[in-house]
Amino acid sequence: MSAAVRHNWTLEQVNALYALPFNDLLFQAQTVHRQHFTPNEVQISTLLSIKTGACAEDCKYCPQSGHYNTGLERERLIEVEKVLQQAHAAKAQGATRFCMGAAWTNPKQRDMPYIIEMVRGVKELGLETCMTLGMLTNDQADTLADAGLDFYNHNLDTSPEFYGEIITTRTYQDRLDTLSHVRNAGMKVCCGGILGMGETANDRSALLMQLANLPEHPQSVPINMLVKVAGTPLENVDDLDAFEFIRTIAVARIMLPLSHVRLSAGRSRMNEQMQALCFFAGANSIFYGDKLLTTDNPEADADMLLFKKLGINPERRHDVSDEAHSLALADAITQQNTTPLFHEAR
Ligand code: SF4
Repeated sequence: MSAAVRHNWTLEQVNALYALPFNDLLFQAQTVHRQHFTPNEVQISTLLSIKTGACAEDCKYCPQSGHYNTGLERERLIEVEKVLQQAHAAKAQGATRFCMGAAWTNPKQRDMPYIIEMVRGVKELGLETCMTLGMLTNDQADTLADAGLDFYNHNLDTSPEFYGEIITTRTYQDRLDTLSHVRNAGMKVCCGGILGMGETANDRSALLMQLANLPEHPQSVPINMLVKVAGTPLENVDDLDAFEFIRTIAVARIMLPLSHVRLSAGRSRMNEQMQALCFFAGANSIFYGDKLLTTDNPEADADMLLFKKLGINPERRHDVSDEAHSLALADAITQQNTTPLFHEAR
C-alpha cells in the first residue's frame, strides 16, 4: 500500500481503485489517512457569500448564474465591516478558516481595495483566509498574496471531457491557468469538483486524475454533491448513488494523501451515517455554519452533535496558539450534553 505523493496517475489506475471491494477501498483510504493526519480530527471552515448572484458565467449547477431564474436574491459586494462581524462569529463557533465567495467571472480592479481590506481584517482575527472570486490574473494573484490571503478556491468542477456540458463561458484551460497563477503567487490552492451532475464514472476518475496530476496537489480538495436547485438546468438530473460518492472521497484520499479532503456542498442532504462513512473514507474538513454560499448546510449544532457521537474533534490550527479558540470549541461541544442525543437521522 502506498501513500506516496504521485503526479503520474493513469485513468486505468484510478478506475482500478474505484473497482476495489468497498471495504478494501475504505480500509486502504483510512490507512493512508492515518499515515498523514491525526485520526478523528476534522478541520472546520466557514463560508460567507460576499457578493451574491447575477454572475455572468453559465455554470449549469449554480443558482448564482445570471443565465437562470432561480429566484435568488442578488446582493452587491457587502461592506467590509459586515464581513468582519461574520468572521468574528465564525471564530467564536470554532472555525479556523474563513472563506469568502463572490459570484464573479473575475474581480474588477475597483473591487480590489475592499477585498484586500477584508483579507487583512479577517487575518487580524487570527483566522486563515480563503477567497473564491473567479479567474485571477498573475497580478491579481500577487496582490492577494501580498495582502496575506492564505488560500484561493477555484474548482475544476468535473473532467475535461464532461466540462463542456456544464460550462460554456470559460474553458478548462482558463481554470488551470488561474490555478497556476495562484500557485505562482505562493498561495495555497483549494480545488475540487462536483459529483452527481450526470457525469460518468470515468469522468469522476478523470477529475481526480486532473487534481492529482497538477504540479502540486491542492492543499484543500472540496468534493461537492450537486445540490439541485429549481431553475437551474440540472434541477432534474438523476441522484448519484451514495456509495459512489463515498468511494470518490476514498479514492481522493488515496491519490491526494496530504490534502484536506472537504465534504462540501450537498452535505445537508446526507444523513449522519453517510457523513460518518465519508469521514472514515478520509474526508477531514467540513463547512460549518447554517449557509454554504446560497444552499443549505446542516445546522452548526447538528454538526457538533455528530462530532460528539463519532468522537471527532475539530482540528486546531497548529501554527496559532489560541486558548480562546479551544475554549469556545469545548463549550460548543459540552453544551450538546443538553441536546437529546438520539434524534432522527437526517
Ligand atoms: S459557479 Fe461561480 S462562476 Fe459559475 S455561475 Fe456560479 S458564481 Fe458564477
